[in-house]
Amino acid sequence: MVVCEQCERRCRINEGDAGYCRMYLNRTGTLEQALPNMISALMIQRIEGLPVFHFYPGSRTLSFSTTGCNFDCRYCSTAFISRVDPAEVVMHELSPDMLVNKALLAGCHSISFTTNEPTVSLSYLLKLADAAHQKGLHVGCLTNGYQTPAAAEALAGKMDFMNVSLKGSTDGFYRDYVGVDNISPVLRNLEYYSSHVHLEITTPVITDINDDQIREIAFIINKINRQIPWHVFRLLPEYKMSDREYPDIRDLSEKLEEARAAVDYIYFGNFPGSEWVSTYCPTCRTRLIERVGLGGCGVKPVNFADKNGLCPGCDVNMPLTGNCVDYSSAEIEEEKTCQVKSE
Ligand SMILES: [Zn+2]
Repeated sequence: MVVCEQCERRCRINEGDAGYCRMYLNRTGTLEQALPNMISALMIQRIEGLPVFHFYPGSRTLSFSTTGCNFDCRYCSTAFISRVDPAEVVMHELSPDMLVNKALLAGCHSISFTTNEPTVSLSYLLKLADAAHQKGLHVGCLTNGYQTPAAAEALAGKMDFMNVSLKGSTDGFYRDYVGVDNISPVLRNLEYYSSHVHLEITTPVITDINDDQIREIAFIINKINRQIPWHVFRLLPEYKMSDREYPDIRDLSEKLEEARAAVDYIYFGNFPGSEWVSTYCPTCRTRLIERVGLGGCGVKPVNFADKNGLCPGCDVNMPLTGNCVDYSSAEIEEEKTCQVKSE
């Protein structure tokens, strides 16, 4: 029997068995990664699509995923990759070096682990980060934040940016809708990540399930650091909750207006034409980064007040890692060139 120390499930895996996520195995008395170097999806996108809004805005990232998850969110919108038997997912072998080469060829600035949970493929992600850093590329991931302290330390040590999903505010929510005992490991790791890596937070909102927790979630973020960008994602439930109503945009907007008292940078997306995708100065309300919400995760930056995030209204800096790629200038041409290169 081995104990998997990657996430707080800490699965005890008998010889011949796999852990809960089915991505860690005990074949010969030691913990092994299932499907090493196997990738299920690969996509070039703007970093805003992840979503990540305050890390080199406008830059291009190569996002990829594997398969499997340590959560079982009843509303999961990517269950076709996360919740199926890993052996059934069509995958392609791609070593860290090969993935880095693809990112360089496509003119990407970073590589991002998205869609399924990176903790289930942690050793691959850490090797990838080393290979990417050697070539001057940044690496980041989207995660549910349920790592053990040791895994969180390893992850934060190698990631340049992270977006952690804070799905609710109570143990009950995590127990009933996510399938783990309590929220505390996520809160502990959020605190840790906030001081060790560029951090953004996402909350998928589901009608009548967690829309009444918005105020409490805003309070949690406020206690960690009110300047952490918070992405509220209008979730269109799938998987075991596909019969649910879609969240009401006006109702959520009112709740988020109140939450502005606690959190400086709130974004609200996953519907076309959202006015909540631009960045406004929390002090003087000057628009610092204008973005167009295209629906889904499609968000495009179209104008920057200042490439380094300095507010022209009050001379206060927005919290920004790196500078902006300005789509309104000649750099658009460079962008087109890169697209041709990647095709
Ligand atoms: Zn200002």
